Amino acid sequence: MTADAPITQDVLTLPRKLPEGGKINLVGQTREQLRETLIKLGTKEKQAKMRVGQIWQWIYQWGKRDFADMTNLSKALRADLAEHCVIEIPEVITKQVSEDGTRKYLVRIAGGHEVEVVYIPETDRGTLCISSQVGCTLTCSFCHTGTQKLVRNLTSAEIIGQVMMARDDLDEWPVPGTRSDDRTRRLSNIVLMGMGEPLYNFENVRDAMKIAMDPEGIQLSRRRITLSTSGVVPEIARTADEIGCMLAISFHATTDEVRDKLVPINKRWNLEKLLQALRDYPRVANSERITFEYVMLDRVNDSKEDAHRLVELIKGIPAKINLIPFNEWPGAPYKRSSGNRIHAFADIIHDAGYASPIRKPRGEDIMAACGQLKSATERARKSRKQIEAEAGLNS
Ligand code: SAH
Ligand code: SF4
Repeated sequence: MTADAPITQDVLTLPRKLPEGGKINLVGQTREQLRETLIKLGTKEKQAKMRVGQIWQWIYQWGKRDFADMTNLSKALRADLAEHCVIEIPEVITKQVSEDGTRKYLVRIAGGHEVEVVYIPETDRGTLCISSQVGCTLTCSFCHTGTQKLVRNLTSAEIIGQVMMARDDLDEWPVPGTRSDDRTRRLSNIVLMGMGEPLYNFENVRDAMKIAMDPEGIQLSRRRITLSTSGVVPEIARTADEIGCMLAISFHATTDEVRDKLVPINKRWNLEKLLQALRDYPRVANSERITFEYVMLDRVNDSKEDAHRLVELIKGIPAKINLIPFNEWPGAPYKRSSGNRIHAFADIIHDAGYASPIRKPRGEDIMAACGQLKSATERARKSRKQIEAEAGLNS
């Protein structure tokens, strides 16, 4: 998919390093892949399914990383697994905690690359914002991640590994033999809203989210997982069919002219094509709401006319509109809309019958808010002039 991706910057694609000593990492394997691995290691076909279930539970339900702990496996199998396999997740390099309790982790993945993961505690839930790529090939002009040159897709292990890492930090693996209690979960929701465009890494994101939803493992309901896309139209229907999670669209503008500048993928799939894909979205037929994300940029996309146009455009689509006050980053070419403009915009949408919550920026003091993420190793950012030129601000 990446090969014919539109509007890409110079992408430096880096090879992945195999786990130490060429051992197989079991993390991120689908049940079928795990089954094949076990058969290769000598497990009899007849037994393989049961063994998969047992190992799966140790890894994903109880958070074990050491084969020696897997007491319902034979000693011989435990030894074999230890010799040939590992249970490896990304390593936490730094952890910062914001005044508001938001936690930001910098984690290192194979090859020495780094991604950021953010945990946002709220009274009734705890949301983990995970990354799907190092950087992003798209170059949305208001997004810090889009200025990062280095890009590579994360593996399914690195994606589900972020969730496992956070469960370690939150100390919430149930005691072996017990299950997670949905009412007390600290990590209750996942949003694919960190670094990267998840639909440009479809298979790995899908496999990782299937693991997160598996009833014998982390057991999150599909309704508690939200995938956010900038609008990779051909992959949108697949999200419903193959993952089944909730969908969010980075909409951000109500005319092609403005959206071309803010979300350049719009030049490839414009508003009309995007809206058609959303109208055809399999779950829309069952009135399942799609979230429209709309970043509030002062005098760029925040007028009352914009609000009225937005309501017209999404007519017929069950929707909720999340208004995100722009989060600034060093060199950003935009300003956040004033509170008055945001409220006036929200009221128009609300009066048309849509929920229009204004998202409270979280973790701003540690640069953990939406769109502020960028690997620490990749600070060589573009100049303000370059960013403005790409945003079309000085043309
Ligand atoms: N690549 C995906 C998911 C990651 S971004 C996507 O674009 O949808 C998650 C959300 O944060 C998107 O809606 C994105 O447009 C928004 N965002 C990016 N930069 C932002 C910023 N500086 N302030 C506020 N929201 C931002
Ligand atoms: Fe990539 Fe999303 Fe940022 Fe656009 S907003 S550059 S798609 S991460």
